[in-house]
Amino acid sequence: MKIFVLCLAVAFSPLLALAQGYDLVIQGGRVIDPETGLDAVRNVGISQGRIKKISAAPLEGQRVISAKGLIVAPGFIDLHQHGQDLESQRVKALDGVTTALEMEIGKPDVAAFLQSKEGHSLINYGTTASHAAARSLAFGAPLPQEGLLPKSGAATDKPASAEQIEAMKARLRHELAAGALGVGMGIQYTPGATRWEVIETFRLAAEHNVPVYTHVRSSGKHEPGSSIESVSEVIGAAAVSGASLHIVHINSSCLALALDCIGLVAGARARGLDVTTEAYPYEAGMTSINSALFNPGWQEKFGVTYHDLMLPETGERLTKERFEELHNSSESRGVVLFINSMENVDPVFRNPLIMVASDGEQGHPRNAGTFCRVLARYVRSQGALTLMDAIRKMSLMPAQVLERSTPSARLKGRLQEGADADVVIFDLQTVTDRSTYQNPMEPSLGVEYLLVGGVTVVDKGKLMEGVFPGKPVLGITKR
Ligand SMILES: [Zn+2]
Repeated sequence: MKIFVLCLAVAFSPLLALAQGYDLVIQGGRVIDPETGLDAVRNVGISQGRIKKISAAPLEGQRVISAKGLIVAPGFIDLHQHGQDLESQRVKALDGVTTALEMEIGKPDVAAFLQSKEGHSLINYGTTASHAAARSLAFGAPLPQEGLLPKSGAATDKPASAEQIEAMKARLRHELAAGALGVGMGIQYTPGATRWEVIETFRLAAEHNVPVYTHVRSSGKHEPGSSIESVSEVIGAAAVSGASLHIVHINSSCLALALDCIGLVAGARARGLDVTTEAYPYEAGMTSINSALFNPGWQEKFGVTYHDLMLPETGERLTKERFEELHNSSESRGVVLFINSMENVDPVFRNPLIMVASDGEQGHPRNAGTFCRVLARYVRSQGALTLMDAIRKMSLMPAQVLERSTPSARLKGRLQEGADADVVIFDLQTVTDRSTYQNPMEPSLGVEYLLVGGVTVVDKGKLMEGVFPGKPVLGITKR
């Protein structure tokens, strides 16, 4: 008898599927879309990886998720995620992120990176073309074996010849053709790059109609080499080249001058330049201890000393001797830098030009906690941002930056019919970051469901095992 019923079910399954409507229905959640301004209780019908229907009327689905009392929003897009390993992707998913891209520096080999992620990625991924790697190759120096940043040396500190600049541009063209989403330029990590090299790199990006993502040349108040000078340099390069410009982590590049630097971005935009920026909600930064960021002068620049540097694995604070040992080593180790204060950081997030990006990698709590921290700290606790504005900063705004590189980004960062079904469903009363400097990989709480391309990655607050729905986000220049 049981077998007979089973046979009937199989025989009529196409009919059954029709009767059951959508692949998945999210029922009765508070649906928020920052582009249209929708903020209402709705049902969302999803099939074949797309949002097919948003309706006040009931919808039928093969699976129904009850989202009563929960927020239903476009999945968060992180333009600045260095940690592309699976462990990092797991904590990103629990932080509400459906797309996490390496844009600041760029992977040294785009094709190899894309190949390594195919079929193995929890969330969507992509990268820029790395100016630092192109520079290493032009100087005959090895590409970094681990991480992204070259060890400080001739290839980071010496000016390039005209031939070397041409070689870098050829390499960047090759990387853009492999699917890169723009050019990543960590100018502070290649201090030998002249103003001319920066402009030539921006021109290359403009020729290919892609943005430059940049960590600016220097930080702090001291002239020459202030944050203001550094932001002015890249705005100038955007103006003369016509390239779009995205300035990463304006909080840590500009420190106490962050609001003044945002004022420069606003001024450039008011004169028709396409300049955008981002921030992460923490007082400490993190980088490679043997990189050129620690070339002589770093203490004056950041206004800190050895003791403000911490090894994330052990919590060890550095001394002069320990610093020199690690800085001169060929081993690339992450170090946390306590260079800023939340008194500087909090007002940055209230600015409407600021979008959220984590700069995440293992060792710093921003890897796991950035997005839920914005919801917990600025929306719920401080009341400094409306829920709509916070969601806009984490979904629509980064999607609009990505649209410079690929029209496919128009289907992301929106909760609309026809959009990709990258969706986060969270509880605004409980959502919170839990990662700390001591326990940086502690996942956030409150993300109840996460869909990537319509596939459930987080289900009732738990990560699903064995699903890898993440897809590449590719630049238009890929052939
Ligand atoms: Zn950076």
